[in-house]
Amino acid sequence: MSKGKINVSVENIFPLIKKFLYSDHEIFLRELISNATDATLKLKHLASVGEFKGNTDDVKIEVKIDKEGKKIHIIDQGIGMSEEEVKKYINDVAFSGAEEFLDKYKDEKNQTGIIGHFGLGFYSAFMVADKVELITKSFREEDEAVKWTCDGSPEFTLEPVEKKERGTEIILHIADDSLEFLEKARIGDLLHKYNKFMPVPIKFGTREEELPLPEGADKDAKPEKITVDNIINNTTPAWTKQPSELKEKDYQDFYRELYPMQFEDPLFNIHLNVDYPFNLTGILFFPKLTQNIDIQKDKIQLYQNQVYVTDNVEGIVPDFLQMLRGVIDSPDIPLNVSRSYLQADGAVKKISSYITKKVGEKLSSLFKNNREEFEKKWNDIKIVIEYGMLSEEKFFDKAKSFALYPTVDGKYFTFDELQEKLKPAQTDKDGNLVLLYASDADEQHSFIEEAQAKGYEVLLMDSPIVAHLMQKLEGENEKVKFSRVDADSIDKLIQKEENQISKLTEDEQNKLKEIIEGIVPKEKYSVQLEALDSKSNPFIITQPEFLRRMKDMQKTGGG
Ligand code: ADP
Ligand code: MG
Repeated sequence: MSKGKINVSVENIFPLIKKFLYSDHEIFLRELISNATDATLKLKHLASVGEFKGNTDDVKIEVKIDKEGKKIHIIDQGIGMSEEEVKKYINDVAFSGAEEFLDKYKDEKNQTGIIGHFGLGFYSAFMVADKVELITKSFREEDEAVKWTCDGSPEFTLEPVEKKERGTEIILHIADDSLEFLEKARIGDLLHKYNKFMPVPIKFGTREEELPLPEGADKDAKPEKITVDNIINNTTPAWTKQPSELKEKDYQDFYRELYPMQFEDPLFNIHLNVDYPFNLTGILFFPKLTQNIDIQKDKIQLYQNQVYVTDNVEGIVPDFLQMLRGVIDSPDIPLNVSRSYLQADGAVKKISSYITKKVGEKLSSLFKNNREEFEKKWNDIKIVIEYGMLSEEKFFDKAKSFALYPTVDGKYFTFDELQEKLKPAQTDKDGNLVLLYASDADEQHSFIEEAQAKGYEVLLMDSPIVAHLMQKLEGENEKVKFSRVDADSIDKLIQKEENQISKLTEDEQNKLKEIIEGIVPKEKYSVQLEALDSKSNPFIITQPEFLRRMKDMQKTGGG
């Protein structure tokens, strides 16, 4: 048996680390399972290149709780370590991360929340254990098994041990302030949160499974029950596959797997797959936004090589895509960093603009390939697209080609189509194309009728930010003016036919005007009695377009 001192400059850093990492003790399990997974994948790699001759088909990781003994075991069948490797990787490498961490944060110990997800790899075991044993046997037959023990001081022991099977077993002697981790439900939840898509099967206890009845079996026959390993993870989640391997149904199933409580099908999905200039895979879903959808919950989940990192990285998508759901997996996102570091990291910005681009491309291809379907979904996606057009210039440029402008009678035009088709009938004296719209088809129905009677198209622009969008479109297209059907500008802008004759006498008109002006506030409306041909409307009250739009824009905040 040999003794030694872990190579750290600060004495008794364990209690310090514990204090720092208080909010996130639970990540110890993720870290240790990540190590077990790495060791297993390394072995598989060696097998694939012929350096390891054994069978690696059924290798798995096991997590066991020994409640009476106050221990948690994490057992893998990976490459294992020789004595030299334990000295090198556990004493030096694993602990150097801890030292670096302390250096960086020793002056910030009173600031709360600086550490979101700070992983310290192997070392994080000491957040919950007051003693850690590591028993390991290398895949190289000639190497003896060794046991490393450390009780939370910088002192460790290393001794030969009896172990036949290849791989590593970590035994955590759970500290009294961490007994919660001896609860099966707690560990089950953690495995579900962090490990449910990891690439190596993880066994956590066993469960009963019913065998299917043999054909022609008696109706009352009871199916035979067998005990099987309870594997908690799906090792090949949808995003790790090629888009060509997946059908629409697979995407829907994956959506349910991620968000079991979401009952509505997503509107569409985006399969991300890029390896330059960074590595990233993932599947994003555009959910159906229902009245009671909770945008705060069920957010995009960030993974690194199938290990859950967080669902709380601000800026991973631009604001207007906040409601996207799904998974992003990137090995370029460091696991062992704080949340604030992730945000400041350039990787997040790059990912965000990549996703924005992909969303634009997906929408564009949906529009091109199946316009009818796209039109059906428009009502559900318009608010997001309109918001995107307002907030991201690049997205605006892309969305110009597929953003739709529906009419009150259910036709859909793109902006180009509007210009092309409406120009002949709706160009005013100054050469402006006047786009008439209603914001509420019921409330403005009589104005709509008037406009339609004149042969004009009336758009239905009823989302809350539409005033801002029109402002933007007018800014981009000098000769285009939006005008609500009840705005006074309509009749100034659109050439009136000369021979319209009011059904009222001049005297009647003046009286009527007087009465109306007594009722409606003058500063908001201007009253014009029109010579109208429709039977239903002897007169209309109009409101200046700019005044009303200012009000609308105030309601929804600045542009
Ligand atoms: P990292 O995983 O980032 O390298 P860790 O502190 O988690 O840092 O682990 C340090 C090293 O210890 C690993 O790189 C690996 O070489 C070794 N190690 C840890 N756990 C295992 C294990 N279960 N099997 C084999 N080697 C391991
Ligand atoms: Mg690690």
